[in-house]
Amino acid sequence: QEVIHLEAIRKSYFIGKNELPVLKGVTLDILKNEYVALMGPSGSGKSTLMNILGCLDTPTGGKYVLSGHDVSTMEDDALARVRNKEIGFVFQQFNLMPRLSALENVAVPLIYAGISKRDRDEKAMMMLEKVGLGQRYKHKPNELSGGQCQRVAIARALVNDPSLILADEPTGNLDTKTSVEIMEIFGRIHAGGNTVVLVTHEEDIAEHALRVVRLRDGLIESDKLNNHALAGV
Ligand code: ADP
Ligand code: ADP
Repeated sequence: QEVIHLEAIRKSYFIGKNELPVLKGVTLDILKNEYVALMGPSGSGKSTLMNILGCLDTPTGGKYVLSGHDVSTMEDDALARVRNKEIGFVFQQFNLMPRLSALENVAVPLIYAGISKRDRDEKAMMMLEKVGLGQRYKHKPNELSGGQCQRVAIARALVNDPSLILADEPTGNLDTKTSVEIMEIFGRIHAGGNTVVLVTHEEDIAEHALRVVRLRDGLIESDKLNNHALAGV
């Protein structure tokens, strides 16, 4: 069952009349419950590809089918609907709302889904407990550590039951010990049946995934299972 189906995806930026081709034909399938790390040198097109995967941007050419929706040719409104329903985002900078409590931050995606306040709070609380932050539900982001903020962001990403979790350098702002804790949470999320794609520069972080896709100059350079995945651990 494909969550992501990319066929010859091309993306160019246009600076005046000049075309800067960034993705030059990326073909990739990611199945339900895969755990993929996307790597590659700076400038190889990772952010551009993540923006397309996340339905934040559309490709210049090629086809993208996300959980059965052909999103490559969708207009902005339709794209936003698919994005809100199908994708949970986790960012390097956490991107939490500073004035909202942990619970309120987690509940934000449920407002757009039109769910009652009572049900939102209940679902958000469940998600906070899942990431080990149940007791801190009243805390605001500035009263939480970086690792705790990222847990809130992960709970928010999960709260809508999206078909895909997209994480862009989720440990980029965290120390080594906290990074390991966050990666353990991603491991649990994956073990619970979720599909996870994360971008990272760090081999240690990519080691946690089961599959590593490497980009270079806008093309897939390699696509391999990690050894522990092959060993069935
Ligand atoms: P990575 O995430 O692997 O560092 P990016 O996708 O951010 O790669 O960038 C790939 C190339 O595309 C870079 O040369 C970058 O400068 C260029 N680029 C990215 N976004 C834009 C944009 N919005 N407009 C013009 N050029 C861009
Ligand atoms: P990352 O650190 O994740 O690789 P970048 O620093 O390459 O991200 O880019 C951050 C954002 O800035 C990208 O999502 C892209 O949209 C934008 N960007 C990158 N390069 C350019 C550029 N040359 N011109 C305009 N926008 C750019």
